[in-house]
Amino acid sequence: MSYDTNNIFAKILRGEIPCFKIYEDDYSLAFMDIMPQADGHALVIPKFAATTLLEIPADQLTHTMTTVQKVMAAQKSELGAEGVVLMQLNGEGAGQTVRHLHFHLIPAHLSQLKRHGAEQGDMEKIKALAAKIALAL
Ligand code: 5GP
Repeated sequence: MSYDTNNIFAKILRGEIPCFKIYEDDYSLAFMDIMPQADGHALVIPKFAATTLLEIPADQLTHTMTTVQKVMAAQKSELGAEGVVLMQLNGEGAGQTVRHLHFHLIPAHLSQLKRHGAEQGDMEKIKALAAKIALAL
């Protein structure tokens, strides 16, 4: 999969389309998934232009995973999540739909997840959950 500079997350990174941001630093951005598989479903993306895990340098990946840890801790403390599913799809063969490396953080039990990328969530609810998670970030 070659990197497509017009993928939706590249546009979010450039500020061309909005998102419910929960955290940002020099290397990464965290925001809410608008088709959540459970309440509080968040995404962490590197600012580095990589399509899958195979294209990101180790130092950039380390920064990104540090953000993954922060967001997961915030989901636990602010939403009272008992567990968080960390999911990351590589390539269309795995079901990846957005061609910019991203990590799904889904505060739910694996058996309770809704279908992947299937249905837009309630935007007001997503916004409120974003504000809650961001309190700890
Ligand atoms: P993938 O299938 O590539 O692993 O996951 C892409 C994720 O991006 C899906 O969970 C989908 O719900 C989410 N998504 C797709 N379009 C948008 C969008 O415009 N904004 C946000 N915040 N999430 C999106």
